Amino acid sequence: MKKEIFFERANRLKKLPVYLFAQVDEAKRKLKRKGVEIIDLGVGDPDIPTPYPVINRLIKAVQNPQNHRYPSYEGLLSFREQICKWYLRRFGVSLDPEKEVIALIGSKEGIAHISLGLLNPGDLVLIPEPGYPVYQAGAIFAGADIYHLPLLEDNNFLPSLKKIDSQIASRAKLMWINYPNNPTAAVADINFFKEVVEFAKKFNIIVCHDLAYSELSYDGYQAPSLLAVEDAREVGVEFHSLSKTFSMTGWRIGFAVGNSELIAALKAVKTNVDSGVFQAIQEAGEEALKQAENLIPEIRRIYRNRRDFFVKGLKEMGWQIRLPKATFYLWIKTPAEYTSLEFAQILLDKCGIVVTPGVGFGPSGEGYVRIALTVKEDKLKKALDRLKKLNLRNKNVKALGKC
Ligand SMILES: *Cc1c(COP(=O)(O)O)cnc(C)c1O
Repeated sequence: MKKEIFFERANRLKKLPVYLFAQVDEAKRKLKRKGVEIIDLGVGDPDIPTPYPVINRLIKAVQNPQNHRYPSYEGLLSFREQICKWYLRRFGVSLDPEKEVIALIGSKEGIAHISLGLLNPGDLVLIPEPGYPVYQAGAIFAGADIYHLPLLEDNNFLPSLKKIDSQIASRAKLMWINYPNNPTAAVADINFFKEVVEFAKKFNIIVCHDLAYSELSYDGYQAPSLLAVEDAREVGVEFHSLSKTFSMTGWRIGFAVGNSELIAALKAVKTNVDSGVFQAIQEAGEEALKQAENLIPEIRRIYRNRRDFFVKGLKEMGWQIRLPKATFYLWIKTPAEYTSLEFAQILLDKCGIVVTPGVGFGPSGEGYVRIALTVKEDKLKKALDRLKKLNLRNKNVKALGKC
C-alpha cells in the first residue's frame, strides 16, 4: 500500500497576510475568457521599453567571457563607482564605493534580506501601511514583531512620528519609510527626513528608506535622499532600483547605500543565499546611471503626459483627485458607499478595468484604489470612455449599464 506523505508549510509562511485579490483575479480570468478587452491599471510594471543605450551595452557585455563567471557578492567595483558618481550628482551625497554600496538582484531582494541580517525574533519593526508588502514579509521571515504606522491623508500620507508611543519607539529596532510613496504617490521633503533621523537617533532605530521612485517626478519636483540629512548615515540605508527609473523591472538590478555596518549585514546574508547580479547586467546598469540625465527626461515626459491626461479626464467626470508630484500611481478615493474591494470589482465587472484595492496594502488603504499609469494613452482614453458610461454617483450599481 502506498504511504501517504503530508507536507506542512513552515509557520513563517502561515504568518504572511492572506492574499486578498483572489476574487478579483478570478473575475479577471472569467472576463478574459469571454473575450473582454481588459485594461490593466493594476500592476506597477512599466510598459515603456528599456532605453536603447542600456540594451546596447548589455549586448556588448554579454559577449565578454569574463562576464560569464560568478560575479562578486558586492557587485562590480565599476558599477559601485558609477552609483557613487550618480549619487553625488543627483543628491549631493558622497559615498565610499568599497563599504557603503552593495549591488542587489532588484531592490526587492535587498529589502527582504536586510531584515534577516538585522532582526531577531521578538524585535519590533515599524512599518508604514498602506505600503509595499515586502517590508512586512521580511520582518515576518525574521520572526520580528510588527507595529504599523498608518499613512493618512490628513497628514499627507506621512507617518506621524510624534504620535508613536515612547515605549513602542524605545522597543523598535528598525523602521521603514518610502518616499515618493507606493501606493499613495505622496512625497516627503527634507524636513521630514530630518525629523526621521532625529527620531531614529533618539530611540536608536535603524532607518531603511526605499527610494525606488526618486526619479519619476514631475513639474520640477526633485525627490531628496535621506542620506542628504546630516547624521543620516549613522542610522540609515537607502534602497534603490533601476526598475522603475529606467524601465528595467525584468533585468533585476538595484542597490543599497548608506551605513557601512548595515550594508555589511545585508552582504553577510546575501553571501549565503545568492551569488550576485550577472555582470553583463551590472555593466548595462552602469550605462543607465552614466546616462541618467539623458535617459530619464523622456521617461518622465511619458508618465507626466499620461498623468495629466487621465487626471483631467477623471476630474471632468467629477472625481476628486490631486495631481501627484511623483510615481506613476494615482491613489483615488472610492465613492463612499463602496469598500475598496467592492469598487475594484465594479470597475472590473462593468468596465473591464483592473485597479488595485487599497486595502491590499494595509487597513488604512481602505477607501482607496491604486491606479498604475503603465499603459499607453490610447488605452487610458478607452478607460476614460468606459468610466464615463458608468455613472458612479448612482448608488444602485445593479441598475447601471455595462460600459
Ligand atoms: C517596484 C518597487 C520596488 C522593487 O523594485 P525591484 O524591481 O525589486 O528593484 C521596491 N519598492 C517599491 C515601493 C516598489 O514599488
